[in-house]
Amino acid sequence: MPDVADAKGRQMGRIVKLPTACEPETPVAGLLGVGPARGQRLLRLGIATVSDLLLHLPRRYEDTRSLVPLRELRPGLVQTSRVRVREVRAHPSPQRRMPLVEASLEDGSTRVGAIWFNQPYLANQLHAGMEILVSGKVISGLHGLTFQNPRFERASLDPQHVGRLAAVYPETDGVTSKYLRALIGRVFPVTELMPDRLPPEVREAEALMPMGEALRQVHLPDDENLAAAARERLAFEELFFIQMAADRARRRRLSSTGVVVPYDVELARAFSASLPFRLTDGQRIAAHQVLTDLAEPGPMNRLLQGDVGSGKTVVAAMAALMTCRAGFQCVVMAPTEILARQHWFTLEALLSPHGLTPRLLLGSTGTRARREILEGLAAGQDALVVGTHALIEDDVVLNDLGLVVVDEQHRFGVAQRQRLRLKARAMPNFLAMTATPIPRSLALTVYGDVDVIELREMPPGRLPVETRVVTPDERDEAYDFVRGQVSAGRQVFVICPLIEESDKLGVKSVTAEHRKLEREVFPDLRLEMLHGRMPAREKAERMARFAAGEADILVATSVVEVGVDVPNATVMIVEGAERFGLAQLHQLRGRVGRDRHRAYCLLFEEAVDEEGSERLRAVAATQSGFDLAELDLRLRGPGDVAGLRQHGLPEMRAADLLDVALAVRARSAAVAWLEHDPEVTEYAPLHEAMHGYGAVFDLD
Ligand code: ADP
Ligand code: MG
Repeated sequence: MPDVADAKGRQMGRIVKLPTACEPETPVAGLLGVGPARGQRLLRLGIATVSDLLLHLPRRYEDTRSLVPLRELRPGLVQTSRVRVREVRAHPSPQRRMPLVEASLEDGSTRVGAIWFNQPYLANQLHAGMEILVSGKVISGLHGLTFQNPRFERASLDPQHVGRLAAVYPETDGVTSKYLRALIGRVFPVTELMPDRLPPEVREAEALMPMGEALRQVHLPDDENLAAAARERLAFEELFFIQMAADRARRRRLSSTGVVVPYDVELARAFSASLPFRLTDGQRIAAHQVLTDLAEPGPMNRLLQGDVGSGKTVVAAMAALMTCRAGFQCVVMAPTEILARQHWFTLEALLSPHGLTPRLLLGSTGTRARREILEGLAAGQDALVVGTHALIEDDVVLNDLGLVVVDEQHRFGVAQRQRLRLKARAMPNFLAMTATPIPRSLALTVYGDVDVIELREMPPGRLPVETRVVTPDERDEAYDFVRGQVSAGRQVFVICPLIEESDKLGVKSVTAEHRKLEREVFPDLRLEMLHGRMPAREKAERMARFAAGEADILVATSVVEVGVDVPNATVMIVEGAERFGLAQLHQLRGRVGRDRHRAYCLLFEEAVDEEGSERLRAVAATQSGFDLAELDLRLRGPGDVAGLRQHGLPEMRAADLLDVALAVRARSAAVAWLEHDPEVTEYAPLHEAMHGYGAVFDLD
C-alpha cells in the first residue's frame, strides 16, 4: 500500500491550477493535502498562511540533476540514478534490532543495492518492477555499491523532487521537504500576489529580482545562480528594513532634544592626572569619543565593548564626572547586586577625590536608607547613583538625568531601559558597557543605531590567565595543583554548570559539587558556596566572607558570580566546561588574574567529546574576548552568539548575519532612501513594512 499522503503529495505537485480564491493570507489548513494534523505540524514551523508557506525558505538544495548510470556510480558521493526495483526486503538488523529495508536496483548497465535504516514503512512503498529515480550517498557495502538512505520517487511522475535542484527545507516531525515541495508547488501562482515591499527604484539600482520571481526561484530554481540571486534579493530586503529602522532611529535620536554636557578639557585632564595609573590609548580614545558625544546636541547612544579588566569603568567614571559637573544627574546600572556594589566601590574611589560621592540603591536597601536616597535624588542634591533594577522603580525621581550607564546591557530588557529614559525631561545620554562583545561583522546589523567603541588592549602589566583543559583522568593532578595554590595563600573559584532544566538556580548542582569537594577532595580546606536560591543578602554575605579570605574555595554557579572581584583568587575551575559558551568561559576566566599573582583557569571536561574539546582548546589558546566571539560565531552561527536573541531583531529568514557586504549595501541604500524620503511615505508597501520595525532600535 503506498503512503496515501505521499501519493497525494506527488499528485499535488502536478496540479498547477489553484484552488479558487487562494491568496497570500489564505490559511494553509484546508488546502488540499493539509488535514488538521498536518495543519498543526505546519504551525510548528510557523506556517499558518500561504504567505508563511512561501516564505518558508529552503535551507539548501540537493543537486540531483545529473543522472548517473549505475555502472558509473562512485562510492562516497551523493548521486542520482534512474533505476528499476528488482526486489525489496524488510528485516531487523542482526545486531541492533533496527528495522532495515533493503532493495536491489538495476538499470541497463548493472545492479546495486539500497538500504534504509529505521523506515520500515518504505517496504510498502517500493515494489519489484517500479521505475524510480533514486538519490543519495553511495557507499561501498558488503554486497557491492549501495545507496544509503536514499530519497526516491517514481520515475514516471513529474521530476519535482529528483532530477533538478531540489529544495531542502527546515522540517519537523511529519512535515518533510518532499511534502513541502509538493505543497509549495501547489500554491506557486500565489507568488505573483505576494507584496513587493522593496521600492522598484532600490530594486533596480541594486539589480535585484522582483519578489514573485525571487520566491519562485528560491523554491524551484532553474540553476544555482538564480537560486543565489533569489536569496540575495530576499536577504537584501530584510537587511534593508533593518537598516531603515536603524537609520530612522538615529535620525530621530539626533533630532530630539538631548542633554548637552560641555567637554571640559581641563576637568578631563585633572581626572586622568588623579588616577593611580596611566590611561591606555584605548581608554583615552574611548573617553574622548564619549565626551565628544556628550557635547553634541543629539543624545549619545554608545556601546563600549571591552574584555573583563580592560578598564571600562574608568571611561564611564570620566563621563559621569563630566555630566555631574555640568549640573546633571547620572545613573549607573548593573544587572546584579554584587556588580552594582563593586561599581559603587570603584566609582567612589575614582570620583570622591573630585567631590562626587555616588549613592548605592539596591533591592535590598533598607526602607529608611532608601527613602533618604530617593529624597536626595529628587531634590537634585545627589548627582550620581549606582544600583540595580531598583533604580527603575516608579518612585525613583531624577529630574536632571543626563547620563545613563548600563553595564552588561544585554541583560536588561528594552522596556526597562525605556523606563529609565522616561525619568528624564530631555533624552539622557546613554552609555552601555559589555564584556561579551558582539563581533564586528554582526555589529552593523545587530546594533543598528548604536555607535560601538572597543577597548582591545589590556592595561599594562597584566599577565594572561593560563588556561588548561583538564580531562577526566587529569583531575587528581589538577586538585593537587589547587591545593598548592591554597597553601600559597591563594583562593579558588569552582563554577558548576546548570545540568538539569529543573535546576535553573543551580541549587542541586552547586550543593552536590560542594558536598563532593568538602567530603572527598578537600576535607581539610574551607569551602563556601553560592547558588541562585539564596536571598540576595545571604549571597552578599557569603561573597564577602570569601572576598575577606575566610574561605579558600567558593563553589558557585555562573549566574551568581557575575562581577565578583577577589584579587587574591588565582584559580578558576569550570566544571563541565563544554556546557558553557566560549564567551561565557572567557568571562569566567576574567574573574581571576586581577592582581599580581599568576592566575589559572582550569576547564574540566565532563566527558571526552571531540567537538567540545576543540572549543575548549580554543579558549585555552585565545586570550582575546573579541577573537573568541568571532570564533564562537564561526563555530555556532549567529543564533547562539551571547546576547543576540535579546537584541529583539526580527526573525531573519533569508539574511545571513555574517554577510557584511550585503549589510553594507543595504545600509547605504537605506540611508540614501531616507535622505529623500525621511518619513517613508513615498512607497506604500515600504511604509507598511516599516511598521513591524518601529520598536527595534528606538531604545537601544
Ligand atoms: P572592566 O570593567 O572593563 O572589566 P575595570 O574598569 O573594572 O575593568 O578595570 C579593571 C581593573 O584595572 C581595575 O582595578 C582598574 O583600576 C584597573 N585599571 C583600569 N585602567 C587601568 C590602566 N590604564 N592601567 C592600570 N590599571 C587600570
Ligand atoms: Mg566592569
